[in-house]
Amino acid sequence: MAKFIFTTGGVSSSLGKGLACAALGALLQSRGLTVRLRKLDPYLNVDPGTMNPYQHGEVFVTSDGSEADLDLGHYERFTNQDATQFDSVTSGKIYSSVISKERKGDYLGETVQVIPHITDAIKAFILNGRDDVDVIICEVGGTVGDIEALPFFEAIRQLRNDLGDKNSLLIHVTLLPYLAAAGELKTKPTQHSVQALQTLGLRPDILLCRSECAIPDDAKQKLALFCNVNYKNVIRAQDAGNIYEIPLIYHNEGLDDAVANAFGIESKPNLKHWEELVQKLNNPKSKVRLGIVGKYVQLKDAYKSLDQAITHAGIAEQIEIEKLWIDAEDETLLAKIQSVDCLIIPGGFGGRGVDGKIQAINYARKNNVPILGICFGMQLCVIEAARNVLGKTDASSTEFGPTNTPVVARMTEWMSGEQKELRGISDDLGGTMRLGSFVCTIKEGTLAFNLYGNTNIEERHRHRYEVNLQYKQALEDKGYVFSGMSPDGLLPEIIEYKPHPFFIAAQFHPELKSRPFSPHPLFTGLLRACLKLM
Ligand code: GLN
Repeated sequence: MAKFIFTTGGVSSSLGKGLACAALGALLQSRGLTVRLRKLDPYLNVDPGTMNPYQHGEVFVTSDGSEADLDLGHYERFTNQDATQFDSVTSGKIYSSVISKERKGDYLGETVQVIPHITDAIKAFILNGRDDVDVIICEVGGTVGDIEALPFFEAIRQLRNDLGDKNSLLIHVTLLPYLAAAGELKTKPTQHSVQALQTLGLRPDILLCRSECAIPDDAKQKLALFCNVNYKNVIRAQDAGNIYEIPLIYHNEGLDDAVANAFGIESKPNLKHWEELVQKLNNPKSKVRLGIVGKYVQLKDAYKSLDQAITHAGIAEQIEIEKLWIDAEDETLLAKIQSVDCLIIPGGFGGRGVDGKIQAINYARKNNVPILGICFGMQLCVIEAARNVLGKTDASSTEFGPTNTPVVARMTEWMSGEQKELRGISDDLGGTMRLGSFVCTIKEGTLAFNLYGNTNIEERHRHRYEVNLQYKQALEDKGYVFSGMSPDGLLPEIIEYKPHPFFIAAQFHPELKSRPFSPHPLFTGLLRACLKLM
């Protein structure tokens, strides 16, 4: 039966709890343990799928087709294993399942209440699949004190009793702010957040103390004394230069030792692969300037997996990458694009910024600049081709309104494995896209085949519109290659432009499958093309 680690946040949001959990997961794996990581989000959306990326960052997509919190991306990248729909839950999802059971009469006349019905649903979510792994790490989103998180804390309080001694741990991730006027790091906010936890019946076993600068020993001692935590379990977590250094840093500060001591784990960690990764990361041999033309570029979290996939490819190829995040509506767009070695046009929704992205694609196509289009980026590559290569000046996507030349159009049915998925034009927006992993068949002799080295791949999707096959022949006559298709041959998945040294675009999101220890071939290919290695 699994041991449980619960992670809460104090003092401030955005402390990197997700990364801390992911790094701890990697450290426990390095001791030969199996882990599973889960995210509990207190907000009321059923999933983050309908949220603007500026609100909550990127929407991560699991291979089994759920739209999940971006922390699941960190979990996958650090533990190198797929998350599932059972690893991310929100208050909205919990409440809607309880309310729909109530409507069906499943509670047999009981008064339905937060305790026990909501808390029981949370407990069931946390405990699901506990026989299959050694450790389950559960992160509670938000910060202690949030009203909507109370049922989660209560569920954890109950569970810690149910599970018994030595079977669960609570890690409180907190912030030690530096006050310049006083010239020191302050522990008082942490003391208060631990007090807030204690009023909920929860006592932290480990304090993971985030800070911008070095944490002196007396601060650690003070925290141990006032927060009732063993001195050895007060862990320094100073900002890291690169997130892939975090497992080694936390290990050196004693995080996994603290967990191992608490759970009686005797195996020793083997961190050689992490050391090698960091070694490569810090020793690039060449440099590439990469432009990303997007709509949400002010918030890096909106393109989290993309940012990471680029980083992974850079580590693998030992290339230092200067990422230039270019706003698609920037008036100086063209000048910025002219300064980069290669371009990525990422996923996106809606008409804003489309002209800038099409301008960027046009520039890259005509000037042999290596380019990778992703999802929306692929759709726009086809619109650019229809407008400027086929001369269909009104070519567009039905996403932007009615058009006479719908080279990209709303999809209402597709095959998911053996099953046909149907969607109506006026269906709900939440959870109704083409979501999750789908097989794609790659044509031999193409750039895609050269990159993947395989004719059968699986990639993750999240979109409503598709490239319209009606224009395939006309585009092929002009040098475009439909190098990846759905197995039934109905949905274009990868498109390339033969006269160009590296012009490739995918309907799926390759960034969702990239991992530090297995970078994605589309990204390594793009970088290699910049160095003329492709
Ligand atoms: N807006 C496009 C669609 O829904 C592309 C989505 C995306 O880039 N994820 O098809």
